[in-house]
Amino acid sequence: MYYKIKTYGCQMNLHESEKMAGVLEKMGYSPTEDETQANVIVFNTCCVRDNAERRIQGNIGILKQEKLHRKDLIIAVVGCMTQQSGAAELLKKKFPFIDIVLGTANLDQLESAIVARTKGKKTVSIPQDSTMDVDKTMPIARTSYPNAWINIMYGCNNFCTYCIVPYVRGRERSRAIADVVADVKNCLSQGYKEITLLGQNVDSYGSDFQDGTDFVTLLSEIAKLEGKFRLRFMSSHPKDFDSSVIDVMASCDNICNNVHLPVQSGSSKILKAMNRRYDREKYLSIIKEIRAKMPSVGITTDIMIGFPGETEEDFEETLSLVREVRFSNAFMFVYSPRKGTPAAKMEQIPQAVKKERITKLVALQNAITKEISDTYIGKVLEVLIEDVNPKHEGTVCGRTESGRLVTVPGSPDLIGQFVKVKIAANQSASLFGEIEE
Ligand code: SF4
Repeated sequence: MYYKIKTYGCQMNLHESEKMAGVLEKMGYSPTEDETQANVIVFNTCCVRDNAERRIQGNIGILKQEKLHRKDLIIAVVGCMTQQSGAAELLKKKFPFIDIVLGTANLDQLESAIVARTKGKKTVSIPQDSTMDVDKTMPIARTSYPNAWINIMYGCNNFCTYCIVPYVRGRERSRAIADVVADVKNCLSQGYKEITLLGQNVDSYGSDFQDGTDFVTLLSEIAKLEGKFRLRFMSSHPKDFDSSVIDVMASCDNICNNVHLPVQSGSSKILKAMNRRYDREKYLSIIKEIRAKMPSVGITTDIMIGFPGETEEDFEETLSLVREVRFSNAFMFVYSPRKGTPAAKMEQIPQAVKKERITKLVALQNAITKEISDTYIGKVLEVLIEDVNPKHEGTVCGRTESGRLVTVPGSPDLIGQFVKVKIAANQSASLFGEIEE
């Protein structure tokens, strides 16, 4: 018996797919890439962007024919797309051949839903209130050695006006520090070399506890564990990313000097309309402090173009912030309205304007990324080898502490090893070099 999970969206979803894979493997299913061989196909969905949602629906639709030929094929749709108001009903109507629909907070029901389906019962189960933890008892089939993703919290309290996440993933719930640390120890004992802590807003970890435990407590507890490993986290929010986080990063060698700090816009007016609760000056002051305390840091960001009300002046402020900060890389995207969010009701910017702005922004950031890459030529950097690089035969690739992708000639047995690499060339954000003996 085989399964295939199609994952859309963020790192959080990739990790939730690992948990569902764990459930399926415990039930006796094996992974396959071949959909025609799969007995269970799971769509782990994302509703953060409109185009992802359309792509998912297209891919579900394609399975209609397959389902006509194979009545025993089980199709499950799970994740945050199903959690939107009325979405489960719409999915059932559009794609009546779907067997199982689950929400974000009840993925642990996957096993019972599959067992019920094999006995002829369809399952639709969407919690109205996403307050449950999802990984208390779920087995995990990790797919990303030498990196292990570990959830530290779920949900978000921030209600940025463009974002659907708080509506589909509920309020913030932090996992107990003892549970997180136990997971980290377990991964390290299995040979994982990099731990990435996951949450929608990791810096507010513990704000739902009564005992003063916070994100800095958690980072410090993990950083003092024995053995050589790297610690990363995502995502941070500038309103909560304070000096105490920067200090613990700067003082612990195994916490990577790599900060992903989404800015979204360089205009304080737009940041206010987005309900981000920081302004341009505050963001720039955090960057200044990070650079002062961690001179070799790699800083990346998310930038959104075309938010309602964004004028040419606002956009110019974004460009000037990008010039000033000089991010090592950035995820740049065009705003698209999400039904049910306040920004969807605001007056929208024409597509042509958004297209022109994103093109300008991407060109600027690419030039900066290339300039920063050039400064690495001739340097020797420590790289944790993560995978083969399928684009270049006979090579493997990994990351520097600051998050740069580096490719070197080598064989898969290097995966999981820390190596010293002399950088010889680059292609935009990617670096190329040779391992030093
Ligand atoms: S911080 Fe804002 S953008 Fe991030 S998940 Fe929460 S509401 Fe969405």
